[in-house]
Amino acid sequence: MEQPAPRLVRVLVPLPLAGPYTYAEPDDLELAPGDYVTVPLGPRHVRGVVWPDAAGGTADAEIDLKKVKPVLERLDAPRLSVEVMNFVDWVSAYTLFPQGAVLRMVMRSGSQLDPPRPQTGYLAAPRVPEGVKMTPQREKVLATVRGLNFPETPAEIARRAGVSDGVVRALADAGALEKIETDPDAPFEAPNLGRRGKTLSPEQADAADKIRRHIEAREYACTLIDGVTGSGKTEVYLEAAAAALKQDPGAQVLVMLPEIALTLPFLKRLEERFGAAPAPWHSDLGQAGRRRTWRRVADGSARLVVGARSALFLPFRNLKLIIVDEEHDPAYKQQDGVLYQARDMAILRAAHGGFPIVLASATPSLETAVNAQGGRYETVQLPSRFGGASMPDIGLIDMRENPPEKQEWLSSVLIRAVNDTLARGEQAMLFLNRRGYAPLTICRKCGERMTAPDSDTWLVEHRFSNRLVCHHTGYSIPRPDTCPHCGAHDSLAACGPGVERIAEEAARLWPEKQIAIFSSDTVMNPAAGQELLARMKDGGIDILVATQVAAKGHHFPNLTLVGVVDADLGLVGGDLRAGERTWQLLSQVIGRAGREEKPGRALLQSYQPEHPVIAGLASGDRDAFMEAERDGREMLGFPPFGRLAALVLSGENEQHVNSAARMLAAQVPHGQGIEVWGPAPAPLYRLRGSYRVRFLIKAARDVSIQNFLRAWLTDVKIHSSVRRTVDIDPYSFM
Ligand code: ADP
Repeated sequence: MEQPAPRLVRVLVPLPLAGPYTYAEPDDLELAPGDYVTVPLGPRHVRGVVWPDAAGGTADAEIDLKKVKPVLERLDAPRLSVEVMNFVDWVSAYTLFPQGAVLRMVMRSGSQLDPPRPQTGYLAAPRVPEGVKMTPQREKVLATVRGLNFPETPAEIARRAGVSDGVVRALADAGALEKIETDPDAPFEAPNLGRRGKTLSPEQADAADKIRRHIEAREYACTLIDGVTGSGKTEVYLEAAAAALKQDPGAQVLVMLPEIALTLPFLKRLEERFGAAPAPWHSDLGQAGRRRTWRRVADGSARLVVGARSALFLPFRNLKLIIVDEEHDPAYKQQDGVLYQARDMAILRAAHGGFPIVLASATPSLETAVNAQGGRYETVQLPSRFGGASMPDIGLIDMRENPPEKQEWLSSVLIRAVNDTLARGEQAMLFLNRRGYAPLTICRKCGERMTAPDSDTWLVEHRFSNRLVCHHTGYSIPRPDTCPHCGAHDSLAACGPGVERIAEEAARLWPEKQIAIFSSDTVMNPAAGQELLARMKDGGIDILVATQVAAKGHHFPNLTLVGVVDADLGLVGGDLRAGERTWQLLSQVIGRAGREEKPGRALLQSYQPEHPVIAGLASGDRDAFMEAERDGREMLGFPPFGRLAALVLSGENEQHVNSAARMLAAQVPHGQGIEVWGPAPAPLYRLRGSYRVRFLIKAARDVSIQNFLRAWLTDVKIHSSVRRTVDIDPYSFM
């Protein structure tokens, strides 16, 4: 008798393969789309998800039944929702990355699908027992554990505190830490929705009402909260979050922030508002924390989630509102792996899911501003700071008229302003968005520039660590004493400033004052960051020399002067968003000054004060600046008036890369409304030993750039050693 044909299912595995594969469903497993399963793939067993059929069924007709292998097991985890699976498909279709590569962002390592293993973690004991000797390292551990809302392992605590495991264990042995057997997937406390937020000002209340209406209507709408720094945008969107959570007992809300703004104070602020800590998702979460958030988002019990861009790919069950704070931030663009713009994908998610989304910014991106002007987004405006705090006064320093001394970077005007600020007992910040001591090291004897051996990049001197570092790849070497090219001794000279060098200059000028550097190099772990912020707030620092890590989210009540050392820095280079980004970054930095009753002041040092960005910042005329940017982009047909994609070919064999580029160039399909520029050597022609060639594709708004690329790329076979990377809506042109 003939065997009945097995039921077939399609399973997508989190690997960059073509798409779902077909498997047989064993009799004892009744599988449904969204189930996590283990399947054989070649010699391996891999985990994947039973995928819905595009047509609604789950089987594939033209399949050789003899070759079909069975699904091995179903894993114990809440089913992935249809919305998330659809989202994976859309993101894949939009970015042109395989579905499996996108699913990988949902499934992560897959270890969250393992059975839970009880763990031992530590929290702070109610008090430190008498007689326990405290050291600075032990203080760091205590500060770290006091900030925990979930017991962590000694290794994780040590990492966050920036000390060795031994310090943590010794404190635990002394009874200063409390050992706790944890359920690794302990549920998050539910937000307390009876709790009221701050009483909103009339403008804030009006803004919150507008958003609440869309929540009540259960409809997609994109609302932009356009408000100056300190106007209370956060208070407004937290009201919206509360409304969405109240509406439906299972509703989930996602608040997205750029990684850098996701600080402990922000998480605490949400905890205070809702009487319960939100489920966090960011790079500083240990394995245990990540697993817990993932599982609780998947089963729907984590209702308020706060995370960086990748939180968008958490397996939500019932997402009902997304908030994208600092929507203009370039960090929303993921630059490796699957290349996607998280703000744009969040809008896609909300539109398809039929729920509202809120974007917040003091300096909206041009894309968002144009959509708002065109009526596709609703705009609510908060033009003034809450509580009457004034916006800082902005002054320009023309460096051509006020040149600093040789090998110095602070003009006499800025120095006087710092003097006045310090004399009033207030704090100053010197801002320069460049890490390290000097961006270029050159040999005075032979003129050799110190570059990375495998990349076309300059090595940046870091005096702190006494190394030369490539900021693109992380490659580094100890700073040599002799020129590696000509062998001359003591001939290497530092050119240009980084924050470390500005701090050195400040220390010469103000030897009595407390000066600290705030950059990702000097603040290597969360504990060090907290310590620095606390010192700044308590007045333990007079002058903070900072990169962009200080630009966002921080609130320093006594900081009244911001000096921008080189306002022109971001304007060089051919990036289409260079002007916009400089505007956004400097506005953020300026916004750190005078956030309370004492008025703030910002001074911008510039060699081109007539440049539209610099002049616009000084006059505070954002509308005029945006209009000029808008006109420029419209004229060139650049986003949001047209579409862009980059195609990068890279490989270690230069000839193969160049011949692949020629082949592709010869076979560009004809497309109405499409232009292909290139191939051209990338500005970073050599990176990590690979040669890189770029194409830039520009399409009219109503043309599918994806269809064009698909048609072009599937037809041309290039050498297998050449990697082809498509970047839809590129933000980097290097
Ligand atoms: P933004 O997000 O626009 O930068 P915030 O929401 O952080 O602004 O508000 C700036 C400061 O003003 C915060 O300390 C906040 O608590 C306070 N604030 C804003 N709105 C109110 C309000 N309605 N009542 C009391 N304090 C408020």
